[in-house]
Amino acid sequence: MTGLVIVGHGTRSAAGVDQFAALVERVRRRGDIGDVEGGFIELSRPPLTDAVGALVARGHRALVALPLVLTAAGHGKGDIPAAMAREQERHPGLTYRYGRPLGPHPLLHDALAQRIDAALAETSPAGAALADPSPAGADRAGTWVALIGRGSTDPDANAEVAKVARLLWEGRGYAGVEPGFISLAEPSVPAVLDRLRRLGARRIVVAPYFLFAGVLPDRIVAQSAEFAAAHPDLDVRVAEVIGDCDALADLVLERHAEALGGDIRMNCDTCAYRVLMPGFADKVGRPQRPHDHPDDPVGHHHHHGHDHHDHGHDHGSVAVVGGGPGADDLITVRGKALLDAADVVVVDRLAPQGLLAGLRPDVLVVDAAKVPRGPSMAQEAINAALVSHARAGRRVVRLKGGDPYVFGRGHEEVQACVAAGVPVTVVPGVSSALAAPALAGVPVTHRGVAHDVTVVSGHLPPGHPDSLVDWAALARARGTVVLLMAVDTIAKIATVLIEHGRAPETPVLAVQDAGLPGQRSVPARLDEIGAVAAREGIGPPAVFVLGPVVALTTGPST
Ligand code: SAH
Repeated sequence: MTGLVIVGHGTRSAAGVDQFAALVERVRRRGDIGDVEGGFIELSRPPLTDAVGALVARGHRALVALPLVLTAAGHGKGDIPAAMAREQERHPGLTYRYGRPLGPHPLLHDALAQRIDAALAETSPAGAALADPSPAGADRAGTWVALIGRGSTDPDANAEVAKVARLLWEGRGYAGVEPGFISLAEPSVPAVLDRLRRLGARRIVVAPYFLFAGVLPDRIVAQSAEFAAAHPDLDVRVAEVIGDCDALADLVLERHAEALGGDIRMNCDTCAYRVLMPGFADKVGRPQRPHDHPDDPVGHHHHHGHDHHDHGHDHGSVAVVGGGPGADDLITVRGKALLDAADVVVVDRLAPQGLLAGLRPDVLVVDAAKVPRGPSMAQEAINAALVSHARAGRRVVRLKGGDPYVFGRGHEEVQACVAAGVPVTVVPGVSSALAAPALAGVPVTHRGVAHDVTVVSGHLPPGHPDSLVDWAALARARGTVVLLMAVDTIAKIATVLIEHGRAPETPVLAVQDAGLPGQRSVPARLDEIGAVAAREGIGPPAVFVLGPVVALTTGPST
C-alpha cells in the first residue's frame, strides 16, 4: 500500500499552518486512499521528516509525495525533491512517486471565482463614495480582477499565473482579469491596479492566487489597501485565498491518482532549465538549486543543509569552459550561457578575449595570464582561486582557449575542485588542434588521403628526458600530425621526423592566430619548415599541420 505525504513549503503564518493541517485532515477523512500525512520542508511544523517518518513507522516503503504548490517553480522543482532525497537517505529502500503541481486546474479556477464573488457580495467599504452604494452582488461585468501570484525568478511559473488569469476570465463574464505578482516578478500589485485604473476600472477585486494564508497574501491585502486609500474613487476589494475546501481536497486526490497511475508529466516545453530563454541564460542546463527570496520579510529561507551567502545562490560552483580557438562566436552555446551567468571569470590569455567585453560590469575577471614560457600564475594559485571563489558562493567560469582538456591543464583544475568538494562541470570546446587547420582550409582527415590525425604537444623537444611522445612512431605513420606549442621546437621536430622516415617533401602548414583577425598561414616542405617559420616570424599561438592533407588546402575561410 502506498502512503500519501502532502508536502507544503511552510509559512510563518499560524493561520496558514492551520489551513494546511485542515486540508490534510480533509483528505484523510476521504478514507479511501490509505494513509495520509502532511509535512513542511521549512518554517512550520510538522517537518516533512516527521510526516515521512510516521508513514515509514507504519510500514510504508512506497509513497506518493504531492507538492502542495500551485505552480511548478523552485519549491516544486527543486526544494521538495531535495527534501525527499534526504528522506530516502534516512530510510534506505524508500521509494516515492512525485505528483504534479496543482494548477492550472478548473477546480482552482472555480474556487477563485467563488472567492471573487464572495468579495463582491460584501458591502463595499468605499460604498458611500460611489454613485450606487448598494451591495455590488456578483456584478461580474462591472468588475475587473487582479489575479496576484507569488512571483518567481522562473519565467515558466510566472507564465502559469498569466495562463490562470486568462482561464479565469474565459466565459465567466468579468470585465477583465490581469495577472500581477507580489514578489520577484512584474507587474507588482500597485502596477497592475494602476493598469486596471487606466483601463477604466471602477471596481477591482484583487484575488490572491495562493493556497493558504501567509506573509505574502497579507502583503497583498496591505498593498491593495494602500492603493485604495490613494484612489478613493475606486472600489478595491481583496478576495480570500483558496484555503482549505472540498475543491482543493478533490484536486489533491486527482493528483494522487495521477501519480499512482504514473502520469506525472509537468509542462517542460517552456522550462528555463531546459530551454534557453531570453534573459535566463543562467538557468539553462543547470540543476534547479535551493534558493532564497531576497524580499522575504524575515530574511532568507533556510533549507536544511545549505548555507546562504550574499549572491542568493546557495552554492558556488566552477565550470571549466572551453572558449574555442579565439573568435567570440566559436564558443559553445552552453559555455556562453554559463559565462553570461558567471560572477567570476578566470581567463587565460588564449581564451577569446572579445567575450570579456560582454560580461556584466559587476563580474570579477581574473587574468590567469598563462602565456607559454611567459610569466604565469602558478597552477596551484589558479586552482586555489577557483576553489575559494566557489566556496564564497560565486559562480565561477574558468574560461580557457580551445578545449579545456587539450593541453589545457583543465583536468588539474577539475581535480582540485573535486578534492575540495566544490561542484564542477566541464564544457568541451572547439580545440585549435582541429579548428586552426580547418580555418586555414586544411581538412585534418580526408577520404582516401588520411585516416588518422594525431595531436601532439611540441612543448618538449624530441630527446627531452620528460618527453612522452614516440617521435619515431609519428614519423612512420602516414596520416596527419597537428603540432601545438611547437613554435620554438618545429625545426628540431621536423629533423627528427625525417630521420625516422617521414618524407622530406611532406607538406606542412603553419597557422598562426587562427580565428583571430590576424590569422595567417605559411606553407613549407617538412625539411624547410624550421627555416621558413623563423624567416616569416611565425609566433605563438600557432599550430603546424603536416601530412598529405596539407596538399588539399583550399585557402583560409573566415
Ligand atoms: N586547449 C587549447 C590548447 C592549449 S595549448 C586548445 O584546445 O586549443 C596552446 C597552444 O594551442 C598554442 O601554443 C597553439 O599551438 C595552440 N593555439 C591555441 N589557440 C590558437 C590559435 N588561435 N591559433 C593557432 N594556434 C592556437
